[in-house]
Amino acid sequence: MNWYSQSREELERILNVSAASGLTDEEAAARKKQHGANRLEEKKKTPRWKLFLQQFQDMMIILLIGAVLVSALLGEYADVFTILGIVLLNGILGFVQENRAEKSLDTLKQLSSPMITVQRSGSWKTIPSEDAVPGDIVKLRSGDKISADIRLINVQGLTTEESPLTGESQPVEKEAAALENKDLPIGERVNMAFSGTLVTKGRGEGVVVASGMKTEMGKIAHLLSESKTNETPLQQRLAHLGKILISGALILTALVVLLGIVQGQPFYKMILSGVSLAVAAIPEGLPAIVTVVLALGVQRMIKQNAIVRHLPAVETLGCASIICSDKTGTLTENKMTVTGIWNEYGLAVRKKRTDRFERRRCENLLIQSVLASQHAVDTYLEGGTSGGDATETALMEAAQELGISFPDLFSEYEVQKVFPFDSERKRMTMLVKDRQGKRFVISKGAPDVLLKKCTRLQKQDRAAPLSSGDVKEIKQVIETMASKSWRTIAVASRSLSSHERIETAADAEKDLTFSGMAGMMDPPRPEAAAAVRECRKAGIKTVMVTGDHKTTAAAVARSIGILPKYGKVMSGQEWNTSAPEKKREMLQRTYVFARVSPRDKLDIVQELQKAGHVVAMTGDGVNDAPALKAADIGVAMGRTGTDVAKEAAALVLRDDNFSTIRAAIREGRNIYDNIRKFIRYMLASNVGEILVMLFAVMLTLPLPLVPIQILWINLITDGLPAMALGVDQPERDGMNRPPRSKSESIFADGMGKKIISRGFLIGIVTLIGFMTALWEHPQDLVRAQTIAFSTLVMAQLIHVFDCRASSSIFDRRPFENTFLTMSVLSSVLLLLIVIYVPLFQPVFHTTPLTAMEWLLVLALASIPTFALAGGRNWKNDRNG
Ligand code: ADP
Ligand code: MG
Repeated sequence: MNWYSQSREELERILNVSAASGLTDEEAAARKKQHGANRLEEKKKTPRWKLFLQQFQDMMIILLIGAVLVSALLGEYADVFTILGIVLLNGILGFVQENRAEKSLDTLKQLSSPMITVQRSGSWKTIPSEDAVPGDIVKLRSGDKISADIRLINVQGLTTEESPLTGESQPVEKEAAALENKDLPIGERVNMAFSGTLVTKGRGEGVVVASGMKTEMGKIAHLLSESKTNETPLQQRLAHLGKILISGALILTALVVLLGIVQGQPFYKMILSGVSLAVAAIPEGLPAIVTVVLALGVQRMIKQNAIVRHLPAVETLGCASIICSDKTGTLTENKMTVTGIWNEYGLAVRKKRTDRFERRRCENLLIQSVLASQHAVDTYLEGGTSGGDATETALMEAAQELGISFPDLFSEYEVQKVFPFDSERKRMTMLVKDRQGKRFVISKGAPDVLLKKCTRLQKQDRAAPLSSGDVKEIKQVIETMASKSWRTIAVASRSLSSHERIETAADAEKDLTFSGMAGMMDPPRPEAAAAVRECRKAGIKTVMVTGDHKTTAAAVARSIGILPKYGKVMSGQEWNTSAPEKKREMLQRTYVFARVSPRDKLDIVQELQKAGHVVAMTGDGVNDAPALKAADIGVAMGRTGTDVAKEAAALVLRDDNFSTIRAAIREGRNIYDNIRKFIRYMLASNVGEILVMLFAVMLTLPLPLVPIQILWINLITDGLPAMALGVDQPERDGMNRPPRSKSESIFADGMGKKIISRGFLIGIVTLIGFMTALWEHPQDLVRAQTIAFSTLVMAQLIHVFDCRASSSIFDRRPFENTFLTMSVLSSVLLLLIVIYVPLFQPVFHTTPLTAMEWLLVLALASIPTFALAGGRNWKNDRNG
């Protein structure tokens, strides 16, 4: 079916829908059953059972199972069952974790799924785009992501960007008229809007002709590879590091096996020990745990209203050194109230919220501002959709308070054309016709901008030429209003002669008569100041980047604490006209950029990056997308933001709130810290395990640990406690230190040294425990092994608390992380069980220990953690 060649009537007939009222809810539900949900099918998910089996496909595990089979042949059935049990438990643990990670990433996907505005049973509704069906009448707005194939029936300056389909990034202008019935390539079907493309400008209406996999996007979707890997740089580096560690572990293990065999240990036993040691020592699970920790962190971020769209951003967040934030709605509440009005009668200010403006004096200005409000037009002419710009809402509320009736207003005046607001132009204009057929244009926008288009000033009875004195006075009023941190909007108009044609915004916006202006209060968010302060302590500079007036921006910035006394405020124009080498120098001192256009935003991001900053930049409009993409962390507004901005962003703020960025950064730093914590713990444990075996064979001692004990350690102590570190509380100084550098190694800050030194000590004390026991009871190998086993386990379980702090165990309340405390306690309990329950003693080669022996075990086990913590930290603790 060539939808593009059908007339509107044919479309309505074929799709069985009336363009005036849309589908009924029942019909839409029936069609959804018939056509299915409107979404692209994703690559088939790995089925659960496969995910489970994947846990066992690791080389070492296969080797281990092989070794177990050999044990079976030798009749060592206890070993066989225990090892199989441990392998199985290990697999279940891995499966549960991965499953959980996957689920939380799914939640993320759902949270960022788009919406669509459709007409159902005669009224407009915004619904999840999954529910759109063929025949739905839909509305498109600048900034929307289109989620179905739509035949357009009405357009107003609609352009879309279709590069996902056609590869052409130049926006395409759309039309509504039927096209010739011949085979047109997609790029030439200008009366169609396609799923997966973006509305860059204007607005339009159309009817859905294809949904889900039947869209043009759906037809090629199976050709598209799964969305690009969402692996974070850390995950990639760890995968690389993992390979190095594996070879290291394998070499050492081979050494242990070889030495053991040379010394006459039974061949089969040495092989099984070697394989067990390799399984325990190889951190093959690291990347998987990192994913789990990232996923859990992402879940915590969602709870704090920060939605991560690109996983790597979680990591970059911790490196952010500068936040460029919008003012309106992000740092302020976006709840505006008109507090002052200036026009031919002078300046009227209301002191209290309950004060009223005088109708006679303010009516004309407010009526004009309502007629020039997109939100009013949407609500009273097109059937209300939700939302609406706060600036316009404030003007409409002020008009309503004066008793102006909107239905009457819109039956008196008809809006014929809209040249919409965008943050580049900072104004918008309507072409309006009254009942007598008289036409005029009304503009509203930033006063300083609009004033340049005015040649007259509205006086009580006439429009007088705008004198230089008037301009001076108006500019003074703008300053007065702005210095009270009010946002200012001016209104201007012009009557048209019957023959004047208005095609472009430039035709309309000239020779205007300045009617007056309104100043509105938008209070700063109460939590913003504290958030800015916390960021400063964390070495992160906050810069306000706004389209608003310089003085307004400066006043708000000062009240929130963004703008220090010595700080500089710069306008977009000043920025643009500065020489490149000057820009860099000015960046240092500038805390507020005002009256910037989205293009300036991009430029600012790039200059900051050149200066070595890691930049978080907020944005909401279509034009902000390039800056959001260029920033290290693009941040889009969840409420007021367009789909286009969200698409380009790495982070979406569900509440548009600046302090959510801070929360995300705090969480980002914490996640990274926690990843470092468990890497530290796991590697130190592994070093200890390998070294005790290696030292023993080097000293020609019997093996201190039997294979099953090694596997038990790998399962128990390396399992839960390591996971618990992954969800540890943030460190006290998490937001009191400068951001880490992007290129910093995971082993920075002496962590590599700590891993080796603590691991070495863990190995040594275990060996000492083993040797002491052997020396006292040379015949009782099982006792010595039990002591070695217990010492190793206890040393690790104590060391895990040390890993929580980058400085020293004494720097933190040790039992703050209840999950960790519980997992350590249960590990201890499990240790006691395998030592004291007679059933397990033969299996785990253990024997009950005496109180003295426990004392020895505990004393030895404390050494690695406490010996190197040092007296220095006691002092630190007292001071801090
Ligand atoms: P920001 O979001 O950073 O405050 P905007 O680009 O939204 O900046 O607004 C810039 C200026 O444009 C405002 O100071 C105001 O004067 C004007 N303006 C904002 N919204 C509207 C609107 N809906 N209609 C007309 N002018 C507007
Ligand atoms: Mg805005």
